Amino acid sequence: MQFIDLKTQQQPIREDIERRIKAVLDHGQYIMGPEVTELEKRLADFVGARHCVSVSSGTDALLIAMMALGVGPGDEVVTTPFTFISTVETIALLGARPVFVDIDPRTYNLDPNLLQAALTDKTKAIMPVSLYGQCADFQAINAIAAKRGIPVIEDGAQSFGATHRGEKSCHLSTIGCTSFFPSKPLGGYGDGGACFTDDDELAKRMQQIRVHGQDRRYNHPLIGVNGRLDTLQAAILLSKLDVFPEEVARRAAVAEQYRKLLDGKVVIPFVEEFNTSVYAQYTIRVDARDEVAAALASQGVPTAVHYPVPLHRQPAFASLGYPDECFPHAEEAARQVMSLPMHPYLAVADQVRIAEALKAAVAR
Ligand SMILES: *Cc1c(COP(=O)(O)O)cnc(C)c1O
Repeated sequence: MQFIDLKTQQQPIREDIERRIKAVLDHGQYIMGPEVTELEKRLADFVGARHCVSVSSGTDALLIAMMALGVGPGDEVVTTPFTFISTVETIALLGARPVFVDIDPRTYNLDPNLLQAALTDKTKAIMPVSLYGQCADFQAINAIAAKRGIPVIEDGAQSFGATHRGEKSCHLSTIGCTSFFPSKPLGGYGDGGACFTDDDELAKRMQQIRVHGQDRRYNHPLIGVNGRLDTLQAAILLSKLDVFPEEVARRAAVAEQYRKLLDGKVVIPFVEEFNTSVYAQYTIRVDARDEVAAALASQGVPTAVHYPVPLHRQPAFASLGYPDECFPHAEEAARQVMSLPMHPYLAVADQVRIAEALKAAVAR
């Protein structure tokens, strides 16, 4: 049994992927070829945004979004300590200070009730993460941000395809960012990502920043990066996108099956009634997590921990000066969370096996 099964996913679309790759090999426009433009158009339509700027990774999407908003030294960017390192390392790379707000323990996302108190005159942006495939509470967050005119960037690396109050993830705030890392809900076969916005000016800036800050060849109004998505990767993502809506539905069905098997036995994911999740991870909470994970491993059931260390405790961020115990909900989640195998093609028989092994492990 695999944690994520990319091979099964590939089988029905393999021929289409090969056809698209061959087309790229034939036309030879490996950088910013026609597939990139086609993918951006289709992604923008999917999300409902005016603009999609494809980029080289989810990390670069966050970096380029913040660069377009002018985040730099002396600024503060408010975010969550319970996320993948990218969210926070990009803030620090720009010389800005990450300011952490604890999570809502039910959703694992930034708690809007704690947001106001974290804002200062230096707050340049708010960057909530839509963790495990469920959007943060953008309606509440946007309302607080709007009062002070602060832009909001969604780290939607795990939530592409999810919805919040009927709107798609990545179209919920000033800029939405996502990742096409192979294991993400919409994954390519390498690195990739995208930024989405309805703001024409921001879109133009992000397009320029992605290509060394240039507006035309050898003319650089901005400082930028090499942040383009490869044409080959765009070709693969076009094939993946064809089956993506069906896969989102399959993910929901797998999650529903898990709920039937596990509700009341362990703490299962909680999804707000105004959200739909794409279950990038199916993450539960258990006591003695590491023992339970070892018991499952001995039964051939792979699990993962997203994430064992909240970021204010990472050595790289020690200089921020946060004491260990200052975000109790993030700390407790880091001790208890465990992600079970999750992908659109997970068989019910495997889920039953996982559930049996899990119930036996937590009963010990
Ligand atoms: C995966 C991920 C990223 C980074 O995406 P890459 O494409 O791997 O650079 C950023 N934030 C979160 C929450 C992620 O899960």
